[in-house]
Amino acid sequence: MIPQSKYFLPKELIQPSLFEQMSEGALMRCIGHDVCNHLDMLREDYEGAVRLSGKHKSKSDIQIYINGKYWGKEYKHSGLRSIDCPEGVKDSVHKQGRAFDLKCKHLDILTSLIFHNHYRYHITRIEHPDCTPTWRHVEFSTYAISMTIFKPKRNSKQE
Ligand SMILES: [Zn+2]
Repeated sequence: MIPQSKYFLPKELIQPSLFEQMSEGALMRCIGHDVCNHLDMLREDYEGAVRLSGKHKSKSDIQIYINGKYWGKEYKHSGLRSIDCPEGVKDSVHKQGRAFDLKCKHLDILTSLIFHNHYRYHITRIEHPDCTPTWRHVEFSTYAISMTIFKPKRNSKQE
């Protein structure tokens, strides 16, 4: 069975140019069932937390965005990237399909969820929020271990 997410379409998880090189199914297998499930859990918990906070006014309040056009900008490299993708660092975990740059309206709520429940989502690394002012770069593992907060050795470009 091809891995799929309940909330994120393949085009939201995968760099657009990769669809010219591989089938959608093969690309989704690079990401895998575990990562899809954990992204979905985080998305559901985020929605729940936003609703509890009373900040739910419209659909965009409960969405997490990865690739696509949002708020006047088009994102293409926020999920699985090609091996030769010039964006970010050479050994980026995005190229393994385990790193995602998450955008949302209530970044404070999302950040709090990640820091309190990282074991639940198998998030094992997060880029320091000081380095990612408008998104959260998170990396998933196949099992739950402690979460490392890292600062990349570069300027403020997305990893
Ligand atoms: Zn990233």
